[in-house]
Amino acid sequence: MKVLKFGGSSLSTPATVRQVGKILLAARRREPLIVVVSAFEGVTNRLLDCARLAERADPAFEEAFKHIARRHRDAVTQLIKQGRARVRDEVDALLAELHSTLEGIHLLRHCPVRALDMTASFGERLSALIVAAHLARTHPAAFVDARDFLVTDDQFTHANVIFKKTNRRTRAYFSQMFRRSGRTIPIVTGFIGATEDGQTTTIGRNGSDYSAAIVAAAVGASEVQIWTDVDGLLTCDPRFVPSARVIDHLSHEEAAELASFGAKLHPRTLEPAIEAGIPVRVLNTHNPASPGTLITREGTARATGPRSVARKRNVTVVHMTSNKMLGAHGFLARLFEVFEQLEMSVDLITTSEVSVSVTIDEKEHLSHLIERLAPVADVEVSENQCIMAIVGRNLMRDSIVGSRVFEAMRGIPMSMFSLGTSGLNLSIVVDEADADRSVRAIHAVLFEAAVGAAP
Ligand code: ASP
Ligand code: MG
Repeated sequence: MKVLKFGGSSLSTPATVRQVGKILLAARRREPLIVVVSAFEGVTNRLLDCARLAERADPAFEEAFKHIARRHRDAVTQLIKQGRARVRDEVDALLAELHSTLEGIHLLRHCPVRALDMTASFGERLSALIVAAHLARTHPAAFVDARDFLVTDDQFTHANVIFKKTNRRTRAYFSQMFRRSGRTIPIVTGFIGATEDGQTTTIGRNGSDYSAAIVAAAVGASEVQIWTDVDGLLTCDPRFVPSARVIDHLSHEEAAELASFGAKLHPRTLEPAIEAGIPVRVLNTHNPASPGTLITREGTARATGPRSVARKRNVTVVHMTSNKMLGAHGFLARLFEVFEQLEMSVDLITTSEVSVSVTIDEKEHLSHLIERLAPVADVEVSENQCIMAIVGRNLMRDSIVGSRVFEAMRGIPMSMFSLGTSGLNLSIVVDEADADRSVRAIHAVLFEAAVGAAP
């Protein structure tokens, strides 16, 4: 049994839904499947916009609703020929329920979080219904509402999954379904669940990957496939480095490290599967022949070496210097207390005897930060900096990676350089203006050089 998840980019137009149908038919020939879908591309955002417009009593919410309705009705028209009237009725019933929800928000001029989750849930309910109906033309398929087994607490908009109950109910649900008909392909709504007393919840934005991992772990699937619009995780962002290539196999740790640099995938959400020892494969709906990237708990046997160079733009570096730091204790605690008070999260840190440099993402409280740090240290701020991270395992087992990277950076000023003791991430901070050529130079020495170059 494999669990296949298709995100919004795989469900952007009727043509891509057809492509998903083809992928499913081919995959079902090999083994039984459970399919998890997210809403059609962009629909969740539009639904949330609708709720906010209704709350402000902005009559534009009616227009926004009509746009969503039209898009789903058009999909039915284009994707379903036989039995279209029945599917159309089911879609219309969901749309009517959505409209009532929005009217309720409009009347109350208030949108409590539970109404927000109810509104958002229609994206996945509509897409799963339409995908199942489209597939049912050629193969037995069933719409499955995850609220029937995915049990959460009542932290609306980011509800916590209650695993014990969820696992038990998920197993029971699918074993009953497959006992009735072993050939059915269930199409499950991602992203949504329900509390014990039946309130609709969502499990956090982009939660469909999480739904897929939860279902896979519960039923003991042999693989989770995340179908998206790229060939997998790459050695670099191909917009900057055209020679970037797909990474064939990564450990969960490496993937998590990459995700913190903006890779589209968030391995934290895959944890239920990874922890259960289930491999995760990232695949491209628009290029299904590509082998994709495999993510497993342990990664490849080839345990050492760089896998990817990622970057995070628009960071701010805060340099703090104080002579009082010499031989003193409690200095770092005092500095970081300020960050804590302002709820500012720090990414990279480098230190010397009398100075500390950190990077931060947000700029909003920067002036407050400088003000509060002033009594403790001299502060210097550099904005428009870029972190480049070389991710891989045991990067310092030998000095080859370090020496190649330094060689590549020759002549380019760096403001920070840091290697975690885990050896998973070697990070360099440069001015945004130097970022493009730095990334290209590093990618070239680590991934493009002659045979044997990539350690
Ligand atoms: N449709 C939901 C969202 O946009 C969940 C998902 O896409 O995974 O956040
Ligand atoms: Mg998504």
